[in-house]
Amino acid sequence: MKVFGSSGTRGVANEELTPEFVLKIAKAAGTVWRSGRIALARDTRATGDMLADAAASGLASVGADVDRLGVVPTPGAQAYAEREGVPALMITASHNPPKYNGVKLVGDDGIELTVDDLERVEEKFLTEAFDAARWNETGHGHRVEDARDRYVDQLLAAVDRERIADADLTVALDPGHGAGALTSPSFFRKLGCDVVTVNSQPDGHFPGRDPEPVPENLGDLGRLVRASDADVGIAHDGDADRAIFYDETGEYVEGDATLAALAAAELDPGDAVVSAVNVSQRLVDVANRTDARLELTPIGSTNIITRIRELRRQDVHVPVAGEGNGGIFFPDYRVTRDGAYTAAKFLELLVDARASEVVADYDGYHNVRVNVSYADDAERDALLAAAERTATEADADVNTKDGYRLDYGDAWVLARPSGTEPMVRIYAEARERDRAETLAEEIESTLLAAKASV
Ligand code: MG
Repeated sequence: MKVFGSSGTRGVANEELTPEFVLKIAKAAGTVWRSGRIALARDTRATGDMLADAAASGLASVGADVDRLGVVPTPGAQAYAEREGVPALMITASHNPPKYNGVKLVGDDGIELTVDDLERVEEKFLTEAFDAARWNETGHGHRVEDARDRYVDQLLAAVDRERIADADLTVALDPGHGAGALTSPSFFRKLGCDVVTVNSQPDGHFPGRDPEPVPENLGDLGRLVRASDADVGIAHDGDADRAIFYDETGEYVEGDATLAALAAAELDPGDAVVSAVNVSQRLVDVANRTDARLELTPIGSTNIITRIRELRRQDVHVPVAGEGNGGIFFPDYRVTRDGAYTAAKFLELLVDARASEVVADYDGYHNVRVNVSYADDAERDALLAAAERTATEADADVNTKDGYRLDYGDAWVLARPSGTEPMVRIYAEARERDRAETLAEEIESTLLAAKASV
């Protein structure tokens, strides 16, 4: 797919991601959906209303009435789509820097479109074979004022509200000026938590921090946890489908550790957990310990969603899925990532233990990353051939869904061509730093030797 990557389409707003582009995406999606009514929402980005207006025009021109939800977290727009049985178009660039914007497409089941459906939209986009309604059959927009409140209500109904309230938690919250600023503070208050916030005014210029919830951007949250003596710190990305945590000492909790802790709480023997081929050893260990099946997909949330749906069709129970970036699925709730729901599931774990204790088992793993660059196709081919040879000869479980992942039981290494830059990325992880470094260095030297012989 050229137009849609593995997580929608994104670009610098008004340069790559122009109103004209969004208009065409909306016409293409509206043509494929053939729905009389379509929801439209956005995050807080400065270009959001400009692009939402373009999308509204495109949807109306194919004949759809447009439910304009305003600023809503992506999972809130998905909840609306599922409840109303209408598809939704979301204007968001998720965690990308402020100057970016993008489009996510959601089906009338509330789930992001599958790769097949995105390809159908992309084909319409490229051929410009759009439906055009007669003048008296074009769609009309109307504002939906309560989408955020309804989203918070359904979150409250979906989690163990009394259990969390009994724990008397203080939550330090950093919605990062994004869409979660309008929903998460009230959600956690209604859960009975004391809530202190930073960066909690919606602001498309993101004056306090960039939308990506990574430690470099979250220093203020760590300090707020310590200053307020909070039990936990919670940060969202720009559209609040992700949640990242700080423990009660103000220390950043790695997303892989959170995923492992939540998976350990959710998984029963015989269940499956779905993640991507760069999955942490922590989740491998949890799956092994609980006798659950670990299913790995190519990197990207669309691939994870597709695999969850396949497994559910085979009656395999998938209680949890996701990646170490804070994007976690609880498919029994909904096959979407939801930062507020994920945070509430983490709060449920804090009823019996401190945050640092909840993730203690999943601390102290060591990750190593190395890149091997290539200059041309010949070098690229040589690198990948060498990675394949290594995989064939290794005494390891090999997964070739997206690059070459070698699982050794106690450690793993992955060699995978970057989707955006001319390099093969090497990842390794083990409990012992030496072990991870050795695995990464071995494959790196093999690849460098192959490149040198081209
Ligand atoms: Mg996001």
